[in-house]
Amino acid sequence: MQEKPLIVKLCVSFTLIIFLSACANTTRPGAVGVDRSQLMLISTSEVNRLSASSYNEEVQKAKEKNILINSGPSYERLKRIANRLIPQTGAFRDDTRDWQWQLALIESPVLNASCSPGGKIIFYTGIINQLNLSDDEIAAIMGHEIAHAVREHGRERVSQAMAQGALVNIAMAAAGSYGSAVSAANQVAQYALVLPNSRQNESEADAIGLELAARAGYNPQAAISVWQKMIKATDGKKSLEFLSTHPSGETRIDQLTALMPAVEPLYKAAPKPGPHL
Ligand SMILES: [Zn+2]
Repeated sequence: MQEKPLIVKLCVSFTLIIFLSACANTTRPGAVGVDRSQLMLISTSEVNRLSASSYNEEVQKAKEKNILINSGPSYERLKRIANRLIPQTGAFRDDTRDWQWQLALIESPVLNASCSPGGKIIFYTGIINQLNLSDDEIAAIMGHEIAHAVREHGRERVSQAMAQGALVNIAMAAAGSYGSAVSAANQVAQYALVLPNSRQNESEADAIGLELAARAGYNPQAAISVWQKMIKATDGKKSLEFLSTHPSGETRIDQLTALMPAVEPLYKAAPKPGPHL
């Protein structure tokens, strides 16, 4: 067999080195055991920068329309839950304590909630009011959303798109004209913030979210009741914005049920939120 030229061998090794060094696990497995190597071809800081600017834009728009709620009982309730959940992310990674966490509540009938990369949480009043969510259920949804950010699923989706050649080369675009850099930023934002997550990412966010809620003293069983409420509210149709970005597998509730024994002891041991008058 003919020996491969040195240059080919070097190229193969170089490519392997790039891919191996780009594979990372963004979180520790926790009690729920999420353990998978993720392909990362773009920096956390770049994705978080885009995420922050998209969050600021959305909050600014809400402010202009006079639908941004930043005081009062609904906002304080949400803030209390966020303040209990956020510190629990330390069980999965150390740097979240340095994130610039933000929380916005927007008055809108939209049944949606999100946490963008870097810890930018948005809730719409629609999902809380129309599903009549309990604190435990809000914690289940918020925990799930925070888990996507903690696990850097947005950054991972951008990286997968880059690996498949679906995105223009970000580095080249950044070095090029302003127009191509803007276009690259828009594409990154689309992959990181808008497109639906894969079922695998959904399962990971369910698992980590469940543990975050349990550690924060919220009943993990609420993760099941909240999905049942959502399925009922959609009446079999994918009309909920939340479900359009969070594909709901038939096995979702089964998977959550299977994880309960891992998180119940954490819930039992956790200090519980007190009554709020
Ligand atoms: Zn999700």
